[in-house]
Formats: sequence, C-alpha cells, structure tokens
Amino acid sequence: MEIEKEIAGNIGSPDEVDLVLENGGDGIGLYRTEFLYMDRNELPTEQEQFEAYGSVLEKMNGKPVVIRTLDIGGDKNVDYLDFPDEMNPFLGYRAIRYCLENESLFKEQLRALVRASAYGNLKIMFPMISGMDELIRAKELLAEAKREAMEKDAELQPTYEVGLMIETPAAAMMADQLAKQVDFFSIGTNDLIQYTVAVDRMNEHIAQLYDPFHPAVLRLIKRTIEQGAKAGIWVGMCGELAGDPKLIPVFVGMGLDEFSMSAGSILEARSLISKSSMEELAPKVDELLALGSGKEVKQYIEENLMK
Ligand code: PEP
Ligand code: MG
Repeated sequence: MEIEKEIAGNIGSPDEVDLVLENGGDGIGLYRTEFLYMDRNELPTEQEQFEAYGSVLEKMNGKPVVIRTLDIGGDKNVDYLDFPDEMNPFLGYRAIRYCLENESLFKEQLRALVRASAYGNLKIMFPMISGMDELIRAKELLAEAKREAMEKDAELQPTYEVGLMIETPAAAMMADQLAKQVDFFSIGTNDLIQYTVAVDRMNEHIAQLYDPFHPAVLRLIKRTIEQGAKAGIWVGMCGELAGDPKLIPVFVGMGLDEFSMSAGSILEARSLISKSSMEELAPKVDELLALGSGKEVKQYIEENLMK
C-alpha cells in the first residue's frame, strides 16, 4: 500500500491560511515569516509575532504548520535594518547568517515561536543552512529561547519539531550528518537550483540556465530524500517544484513525504499524487537520473511519466 503523502500550502501571512484550507491543504508546509518584518518601519515585537504564529496554528487546528525563521537578505530587503550593499546578495549576508549575527532579534522570534507552540502542531524550520555549525548554533539559541520563555511562564509546555531547509548543495551533500540533528528536512528548490547551477534566480539574461530538470539538481534532491529516510526523518519540499505537474511523479518515485505549494496548485497536485505509485516510478527515476542534460530529462518525463 502507498504511504499517504501530505499536500500542504505555502503562506506569507495568517490571512492566507483560509485559501489553503479551502483548497484542502493537509497543513502549512512553509510560512514565510519575513513578510511580518517587511513593509513597515520597525521590528515586530515578540508579542506581535506570537499572535501571528499562534493564529495560524489555531486556525490549522492541530494540522502541521511549518514556520520558517526569518529569511531576509538576498532578494528580500528590510529597509530599517540597514543591510549592506553587496556584490552578490544571494551569496551574502542573509537568512540564518543574518540571524546568527543578530542574536537578540533572532531570539525574540524564537521565543514567540516557542510560546505559540502551545496552540497547535508546530514545526520550526531554519533557512539557508550551509553546514553543521550553523545548525548547532541555531539549535542552541532555540534551546535558550525555550528556557527563557518557560522561565516567564511556568504553565508553558512547549512542543515542536525542528527542521532545516535543504537549499544549498552543501546541505544536500551533508544530509546524512544533518539528518541526525533534526526532525525533518524541507527542500527549497527555488534556491537549491540557483546555487547548484550557479544561476542568479533574478537575472533574466541567464533565465534559460535556471533549469529545474538539470540532473545535478534532481540528484541532490534524491540524495536528500534518501538520507532523510535512512535517518528516519520525514522529508518535504516547499520550493516551486513541489507543485510542478511534470516533476511531481519524479518526486513520488524518489519517496518524498510532503509537498508544499501555493494554494492554487493543491488540487491538481493531489490528483496527480494519488495516481502515482512509488514502486512503479522508482525504476524510472533511476533511468532519468542517468541522463546527461535537463533537456533529455524533460523529454524522458514527457514520454514516460506523464499520464
Ligand atoms: C526556496 O528557496 O525554495 C524557498 C521555498 O524559499 P524562498 O523562495 O522563500 O527563498
Ligand atoms: Mg529559499
């Protein structure tokens, strides 16, 4: 029997939860919290964050909710935080790198998350991890935030899972080690593609090289799923590819556990996933990964995997 796959929605604010539920989402696979920090003049307070996270958890009523810690920098600037001008912002001071250098800001968010965990099924996720040291430090800060929140509220009994995004090739290559430290992975294909093929995802002059079918990208995804399974943790995907009808059968064949996408893609994805069987697809995935180019992979999928 096929294992039930979870099909979840991506959101940028609590208002978007309804749309995910209306489309039958099994959970929230990515809440991009940076939007809470953008389009304003000062940082959101811990209380404001606690209310936003808690409201999403409450509305989802026990269904899983993956909340990603602050992922700013790169293409997402926050004017009042005074980011430096950089030659290569996507390779620069962003996401977990920024948070680990700005501990009090980060811990404020982590305390809000720990407190909100009382309202539902929370999974806390760190973005842009490129190595073990970053993960360990982020987990230490989370443990401190938990202690602090519990000291303030003797009734609080926080429970949550901890995971990381696999969106750098380094993280995908180290998935075996990283998996020992977390409860789950979620593959961020938007960034994983740009870092794997060295193509800035915002640069229109080289957009044709930003190739989701590139065998290198798909091999890293397969490796991540395999290493997660080997370590006994679940592996999801929250980048755009999770809702791509051509690639969904490939990811089912690889054994991906959770697919998270914009609400509008959920229905079609569910229908495709329910028609796909890992047993049937796994040998085809092996064949496709032995091909030499994205063009060949795409053609193989169109001829062999589209029903
Ligand atoms: C990703 O990189 O795939 C992802 C989901 O994160 P974002 O698009 O917010 O960078
Ligand atoms: Mg990303």
